[in-house]
Amino acid sequence: MDIKQIFKNNRNWIAKQLQTDENYFDKLSAGQSPEFLYVGCSDSRVSAEELMGLQPGEVFVHRNIANMVPNTDLNSMSVINYAVMHLKVNHIVVCGHYGCGGVLSAMQQSDLGILNPWLRNIRDVYRLHRKKLDAITDQEEKYKRLVELNVQEQCINIIKTAEVQKANIERNLKVYGWIFDIHTGKLIDLKIDFDEILKDITEIYKIS
Ligand SMILES: [Zn+2]
Repeated sequence: MDIKQIFKNNRNWIAKQLQTDENYFDKLSAGQSPEFLYVGCSDSRVSAEELMGLQPGEVFVHRNIANMVPNTDLNSMSVINYAVMHLKVNHIVVCGHYGCGGVLSAMQQSDLGILNPWLRNIRDVYRLHRKKLDAITDQEEKYKRLVELNVQEQCINIIKTAEVQKANIERNLKVYGWIFDIHTGKLIDLKIDFDEILKDITEIYKIS
């Protein structure tokens, strides 16, 4: 695969889209009103639209290493703000994936330079759930569980924000934690019981 091939692919894609709908690009350029915000990993094997079967215009996407939503990260906080306040999405998904290199790196003791503070957020997830994770003897199972708990904690970080709390009250905006199982291609809904999890901490994070 070279750069020339990519432009060739693009021309083929344009032709294909116009064959199905000659007004495709007029509609696409008219604006976006996606129902979903997807927060996922930058991993090249986990592409948002493809695994959900969605088309351009149907999902607002934010991807970074290990699908993180750190409280003070201006990038992910801006994405959430824009998606909730301006695009008025009604569903926010945090999608992690088994085999996540970011999560694996956070489980190992190595100095990764500029990546250290980013991965420290995952180490914090480990610390919060240390008892449960240390009790898992199988390393692969422990790794998978940390991927899941990381998704859960990033969802909680989203729920902590004022705009999401407000949208939840005003239009029942929901937050979901999913896993993409890279071994089978399946999307797994972690069915995180946020009401239960937030019961004890709502008072701390309640803004509106
Ligand atoms: Zn990953």
